[in-house]
Amino acid sequence: MHISNPFTVLNQQTKNYIHILHMLYGLTPNSLRCFMAASSLVFRLHDRGPELVREVLLERGWEEYDGGEREEKDWNLYWRGSAFRSSEYHNLLPWQRLNHHPKTIGITRKDFLARNLGRMRATCGSSLYDFSPNAFILPNDYTRFLAEYKKLHAASGSSVFWICKPVDLSRGRGIFIFEDIKDLVYDCSVIVQRYVSDPLLISGYKFDLRIYVCVKSFHPLTVYVHQEGLVRFATEKYNLSSLHNLYAHLTNTSINKLGPFYKTQKERVGRGCKWTLSKFRHFLHSQHVDERLLWQRINNIVTLTLLTIAPSVPSCPNCVELFGFDILIDANFKPWLLEVNYSPALTLDCQADITVKKGLVSDLIDLMNYTPVDGLRERAYQNHKCKNSCTLHKSALQEPLLQRTTGNIQSSQTRMLPPLKPLHHSKNVNQRQSRQDAFGTNYHRRLPPVDLNRSKVFTTTAANRTHTDKTLNLIFDPQSRTNESVVNRHLRPGLVPWLRDNRSLHVSEVSNPDSSETEAEGKLSGESDVCSRKPEIAQRTTGFRRSAVSWKLPNIYSGSHASTATTPPSDVTTITTGQRIPPLRVGDFIRTFPFNRASLKASQHKLDVKSVIHELQKTTARLISAQSDKTKNRREEEEEEERRTTESDHEEEFDSLFWGPTDPPFISQSR
Ligand code: ADP
Repeated sequence: MHISNPFTVLNQQTKNYIHILHMLYGLTPNSLRCFMAASSLVFRLHDRGPELVREVLLERGWEEYDGGEREEKDWNLYWRGSAFRSSEYHNLLPWQRLNHHPKTIGITRKDFLARNLGRMRATCGSSLYDFSPNAFILPNDYTRFLAEYKKLHAASGSSVFWICKPVDLSRGRGIFIFEDIKDLVYDCSVIVQRYVSDPLLISGYKFDLRIYVCVKSFHPLTVYVHQEGLVRFATEKYNLSSLHNLYAHLTNTSINKLGPFYKTQKERVGRGCKWTLSKFRHFLHSQHVDERLLWQRINNIVTLTLLTIAPSVPSCPNCVELFGFDILIDANFKPWLLEVNYSPALTLDCQADITVKKGLVSDLIDLMNYTPVDGLRERAYQNHKCKNSCTLHKSALQEPLLQRTTGNIQSSQTRMLPPLKPLHHSKNVNQRQSRQDAFGTNYHRRLPPVDLNRSKVFTTTAANRTHTDKTLNLIFDPQSRTNESVVNRHLRPGLVPWLRDNRSLHVSEVSNPDSSETEAEGKLSGESDVCSRKPEIAQRTTGFRRSAVSWKLPNIYSGSHASTATTPPSDVTTITTGQRIPPLRVGDFIRTFPFNRASLKASQHKLDVKSVIHELQKTTARLISAQSDKTKNRREEEEEEERRTTESDHEEEFDSLFWGPTDPPFISQSR
């Protein structure tokens, strides 16, 4: 459904908002209507894709940029699959956002990633950076590879396998696996990597995880991991004696959907080749696998990988980046980083894709933190040009701008865009920048002081919403925008209707869903007829019992706080010792960095990589020690962990889901 004009139907709630604005700011209902109606956010898609982004944004009431009708700068979001030019970063205006940070190729190209991880191994220790299989960039590293190959083959009683991948291809193209160096043939730059030959299997099928990571900011480093993701299966049973069978060894959808067994009902895996991460977690739960350490390790991988480039990425506050981390889990439950994808695919091949990616894109938009003022674009900066009935009362327009830039709360969407540090300014760029700076100065100057208490989120119940003067903040205040986002999106407080995320639409509204390739129907009950190969997950129960409890899993990130769904978010405006703590949760995005006060401090000015690593190690060690004591029951462990955390770090005020809700609602409850 495309909401083209939010004022076509005014419901009672909308009328209430207008009434409140009228009372407080002297806005006439008509002027407010015109103001809001004229302020749709506008998106621009490069090469008309991805279609899912268009669909989600249109559902949310955005308009698509049309170069014939709009001015060049009249847009709020520019989405590209490929990289932006540096001039596009330089010329970015305050109301605009881009979906890429500059210079992230250091982790998204296979050879650069291998080199950067190698560098970190050398400086921080190989045990810390042992989460990526050893890799060699050929032809340059051929001699080193040969030496390693000979050493391993001489030392190892069992076979050693390798995988060869072209450095700049994706979707499994050009990949092959070999055991004997005689089979290594390449005609372009490749990486040769140790093949993880003992993957965890489900019913004999190999799989890997696609974890979606959003870097909201590199300066300070602010990272969110989406709780929902994909599990991608190979479609033929794993077998080391047929290395050439890509349907058994590669988990890329683009490969497996062409395989002969893609549509076949496969033992436990079902049809197709994807599960949602939720389904995988249910699977782990049914096997009594304690997933906490696994997720902590995966989050560590994400953080440690980002640390390899974070200090060198230029600061660009109006950019976000969505990465796809591919993680393989081995038979010992050790997660391995295979690669980091730039612009992870947002195509919808099956039901799991629809479930995961629609929510993902919507949450990503929430993380971008747009406000109605952004919808005015240049008009927000030409207050004298707004005329007649469409003129917003001056004080009303100034108020939100004020809240954005004053007080201790310096929004990450600050109006003045700092220049990209390492890049040189051309004359034009300088002119543009000085215009921005001048604008920013005016912006600050016009604004009266703000009462920070007013920006707290108001309480609401589903049955009876009470609107107070704080309602205004919900509409205009960027902090309140974030506040509402922190709450699980299924239980959001009342946004003005045209800003509300319309996420309850049915699957049938998504274009191109292939019903024949829907996610496996989760036959988790029944007998265990599973193939019991060694690397496969051990059968700890008789089959996959689907008990009522098993469907209510704890949050991936467990800890000691209260549920986020029913309590107002506490951390958005938390400013302790002068530091602003980013929202804990935005939709299903969970903040994983900063994860405690020390990591927050270490990332504030110049990123202190050593301190961050130290904190990560401490955290993981704590979790491992809690887990190794098998005699304690889980409650005792949590109490102990909580006690140690409080005693050792005095972090009781820092909200992080690693130490977060004990039992928050499970993600995707309503999906
Ligand atoms: P691409 O960018 O072409 O998808 P990947 O590095 O993601 O390249 O590799 C494709 C697939 O090959 C992975 O999804 C995984 O199934 C398999 N794979 C890649 N590297 C390894 C490895 N070191 N060990 C085991 N399997 C691997």
